[in-house]
Amino acid sequence: MEKFKRLHDYIREAYSTPKEFIPLHEPRFVGNEKAYVNDAIDSTFVSSVGEYVNRFEQMMCDITGAKHAVATVNGTSALQIALILSGVQNGDEVITQGLSFIATANAISYCGAEPVFIDVDKETMGLSPNSLNDFLKECSEQRNGECFSKLTGKRIAAIVPMHTFGHPVDIDGIINVAKEYNIAVVEDAAESLGSSYKEKHTGTLGLLGAFSFNGNKTVTCGGGGAIVTNDKSLALKAKHITTTAKVPHPYEYTHDMIGYNFRMPNLNAAMACAQLEKLEEFVKNKRNWAEKLSAFCKENKIDFILEPNNSCSNYWLNAICLGNREERDNVLEYLNKHGVMSRPIWTLLYKMPMYAGCYKDRQTNAQWLEDRIVNIPSSVIL
Ligand SMILES: *Cc1c(COP(=O)(O)O)cnc(C)c1O
Repeated sequence: MEKFKRLHDYIREAYSTPKEFIPLHEPRFVGNEKAYVNDAIDSTFVSSVGEYVNRFEQMMCDITGAKHAVATVNGTSALQIALILSGVQNGDEVITQGLSFIATANAISYCGAEPVFIDVDKETMGLSPNSLNDFLKECSEQRNGECFSKLTGKRIAAIVPMHTFGHPVDIDGIINVAKEYNIAVVEDAAESLGSSYKEKHTGTLGLLGAFSFNGNKTVTCGGGGAIVTNDKSLALKAKHITTTAKVPHPYEYTHDMIGYNFRMPNLNAAMACAQLEKLEEFVKNKRNWAEKLSAFCKENKIDFILEPNNSCSNYWLNAICLGNREERDNVLEYLNKHGVMSRPIWTLLYKMPMYAGCYKDRQTNAQWLEDRIVNIPSSVIL
């Protein structure tokens, strides 16, 4: 335990805060947040329309390089709408990784579809192209250019890889498999704003990508999300169905389908604009902290998780890999007891009661990671 005591001291010293408790990831408001929020209040446009929403969407295009961005009320709703637009319907199946935050599976369920849990790679902690290929090769068949499960007869409508802790998944590998089987790829990029894969921003390589601006993410607006895509007609549809599917008209209220009230309020967009102005600086700061942690861990023979090859991670959440579950639990106990917040990676999704009946493959790497990965404090250091 000696080396983890040193890790505790090292983290405490780096954050040099008088506070007893060091959170895993707290937001930083050191820019124009208050000015922009006040401006939104003064404008009276605090709700579902306003200039900051437009500005936010433009900034998301500039940052990610996507041709189009649509603001939403949170990351889960962004993912849900992205799935609908990729063609996911009631009764379909959607493949995702067995190791992810619950929202990934929930967004699939909200579409009336059922998740299929495929293993991850140890290096990326994200969906494994090989495991994906193994499953599709053995368990799927093509009918009229669409992919169907031989196990259930259901259509496999989409694949949702997730960029775990900001580390880009092997998206090229996944897209190659998806193309072979005629399945759309929707990226859950909720954790990876500021991360790129082969110089391209995460979330922009699949048909659609979803981002989150929840309070614990790299930048936040309290709650918020964004859908990005290079497809103009999908972007227009995204805007339409997230804004109650209202047919544009100066005063008449007509709606042409069952839409959603998933609009990001202008108040939140004001904050989001101020936070996005800081993104580059925050990512630089976080990468610098990760580098220091990595060097410290190397010296102390602790396994620190590095960004995968071909990628540049935002290091949203720093992670270490312990020897086994017992050591994991001991380290969690020690760090949390001493006010350095740490937590295990997620419990595998198939273990949740509502997803217990879903198909899963062997989940070998996912289980290996569940037993070993611990997140340690990752906030921007002021
Ligand atoms: C945060 C997160 C979401 C959901 O974002 P919200 O804005 O909280 O709805 C979805 N997927 C993953 C992997 C996340 O980490």
